[in-house]
Amino acid sequence: MTDNLRSVVQVAVPVPLRRYFDYKAERDLMPGTRVLVPFGRQKLVGVVLSADKQAGARELKAVLRVLDETPALSKNLFSLLSWASGYYHHPVGEVMSAGLPVLLRSPQDLEAPAGDRYARVSTDDPHIRDQLLNRAPAQRALYHHLQAKEWTLVAELGSVVPGWRQALGALEEKSLVETRVFFRDPLPASWTAPVPLTEEQEYAARQICTKLGQFHSALLQGITGSGKTEVYMSAARACIAQGKQVLILVPEISLTPQLVSRVRDQLGGNVCTLHSGMTDHARFRTWWMAREGEVDAVLGTRSAVFTQLRNPGLIVVDEEHDASYKQQDGFRYHARDLAIKRASLDNIPIVLGSATPSMEALYNVQTKRFQLLELSQRFGPARLPAIHTVNLNNFPADDGLSRPVLSAIQQRLDRSEQVIIYINRRGYAPMVRCYQCLWEAECDHCDARLTYHQKSRQFRCHHCGHTRHGDERCPACGATLYFAGSGTQRIEKVLLGRFPHARLCRVDRDEASTANKLYKQLKSIRDREVDIIIGTQLITKGHDFPAVSLVCVVNADQGLFSTDFRAPEYMFQQLLQVSGRAGRAAANGEVMIQTAFPDDPTIQMIKQHDYDSFARHCLTQRETVGYPPVTHFALFRAESAKQTAAVKFLRHAQQIGTQIQQEHALDQVEILDAIPSPMEKLAGRFRAQLLIRCVRRGPLHSLLNHWLPVLEGSTQSRTVRWSIDIDPMDMS
Ligand code: ADP
Ligand code: ZN
Ligand code: ZN
Repeated sequence: MTDNLRSVVQVAVPVPLRRYFDYKAERDLMPGTRVLVPFGRQKLVGVVLSADKQAGARELKAVLRVLDETPALSKNLFSLLSWASGYYHHPVGEVMSAGLPVLLRSPQDLEAPAGDRYARVSTDDPHIRDQLLNRAPAQRALYHHLQAKEWTLVAELGSVVPGWRQALGALEEKSLVETRVFFRDPLPASWTAPVPLTEEQEYAARQICTKLGQFHSALLQGITGSGKTEVYMSAARACIAQGKQVLILVPEISLTPQLVSRVRDQLGGNVCTLHSGMTDHARFRTWWMAREGEVDAVLGTRSAVFTQLRNPGLIVVDEEHDASYKQQDGFRYHARDLAIKRASLDNIPIVLGSATPSMEALYNVQTKRFQLLELSQRFGPARLPAIHTVNLNNFPADDGLSRPVLSAIQQRLDRSEQVIIYINRRGYAPMVRCYQCLWEAECDHCDARLTYHQKSRQFRCHHCGHTRHGDERCPACGATLYFAGSGTQRIEKVLLGRFPHARLCRVDRDEASTANKLYKQLKSIRDREVDIIIGTQLITKGHDFPAVSLVCVVNADQGLFSTDFRAPEYMFQQLLQVSGRAGRAAANGEVMIQTAFPDDPTIQMIKQHDYDSFARHCLTQRETVGYPPVTHFALFRAESAKQTAAVKFLRHAQQIGTQIQQEHALDQVEILDAIPSPMEKLAGRFRAQLLIRCVRRGPLHSLLNHWLPVLEGSTQSRTVRWSIDIDPMDMS
């Protein structure tokens, strides 16, 4: 045995197993270090969890290569990921891997990414300058050249100033010039002077600032248009002024170039972004810069919660209620919840913001874990729009839009104001059938209907993506098909017929299929090249459209009758968010909601913009029936191509769980029955679920800690695909 292998290291290998593996190494390695290890016939990049000296006679394989000089995962990020692996009961190797930028998941040494060096003049004092440059013509020439621009690419100096290299070194030495590596063209450091805050904003910002340097969670609840962003920016500036970095998380579709430039302007330009549209290289650069302390702020989506910061100072989670913070497959983490854990590990404050906070956040306010900061006024002359309902029982809307809505649209068009028609369904019609032969457009692979898309002449499944070609004739008997319900395309057609001179714009996943297309559409709306906007959820988020004075909601009733216990919460959030698009400028806005249930208490509360009453009502209800956030859920899911296999497996899991529960006297935990999922068949696979809940997290997690290894070890566990979801958001 080779005895220079003196240490044993525990390595998290990216495989779907809830355990680590031992390897021999030449020396102890720090936790968070990446190593290349043999695994079966493969070589994989793993992360060291711990090391111990007691080498000994064990027949272990040796680490092939140590990839990091200093651990790729910093101490706190490593702690966060270890914690997350335990909390989400997800295989530690996969969790560690998720915490690394994609480039570092392959056996690449940890090296600085290539960047470009830029130079700029750092002092303008003519006196000092003349004194120092008096007898150095090359330096003086270079200095004058650099003066012309904010930042100059060093690589281009060769053709301009002979002897530049030495001169540049000398100028840096004299502190007349500074150089810095940028990974993209540094924007001229545009810097908008901070706006004076309103009293409410000032108070909120001050509350956050007094907590810099310690862990503290605050919920900033401010109605749409109240200026939450100004509060974040003010706190962020204070943080940056202390030499610390800020991490700002936003939902996927809020991260528009408009937001990026707004943040850059306010924070002094040194801000990097992180989102799924970037190349792996670009993401790695941001990751590196943040880790080296080269950027003041990182603005990113869900996975940016894993960005390492050299000097973390503050975390902001905007639109904290947004569903996109939850990863829905693989490592199913919630970025908001991880951000809170992260703030506690980094010992820094975190502020969560929303106009319509999640019940989870509000419950934390109720139980005094979060401080509540409120903004109750819209900024400036803007007022909240009046919300009216249109009773569909009195005003039928055969083509989707009722008479009062159509005439209100006409009025706004006459005044050259913009209108938003909100409908959370794309395509032409969600339900298609033949009255001759009773054929119905259903997906062959899912328990779901197909939506007709008129533009592409397709029936499409919005769950699995399956499409079949078709037109307005029944594929079985040739009779004319009946289309029920409306999607964005149908509303567009109706509006075109009704307002032939209006300029329409449809904003849904089909039209705005990429971030760039969406951005262009949003820009044309802001530039008033559009009169009527027909949009799905894509337009509800934080966008500022000053000329929109009317918002029409085609149908509010889906949210009232759903099997998902969170549906009313989502409906309320969406309607208030989309209503918030109206009357952002001085024009008084109006919202019209079409509903067949105008007296429903939820609809009544929406009319009053009364999110607080709704939330109280909602939380009381959740308490009564024992739903989150008052209790805690964990959901087993299983799926199989064979119809009964998934349920059978979960029954087996249930038996194991019940037995373990008795052995460990964990009777506070409730194990419900394994059942087929509400949508049993999806993409050709049959799905089932098993719900576990408990008022306290502790017993729930202890049970799972005993349960999962047994289940994972059982032979049945290889017959189906299964997973566990802690704090599940989607239970369909
Ligand atoms: P929210 O995110 O709360 O919906 P925003 O931060 O987008 O609101 O603010 C709404 C509008 O009001 C923006 O155009 C913003 O620039 C403006 N605004 C907010 N607060 C101020 C302030 N103190 N001074 C000047 N403009 C402000
Ligand atoms: Zn389908
Ligand atoms: Zn037919």
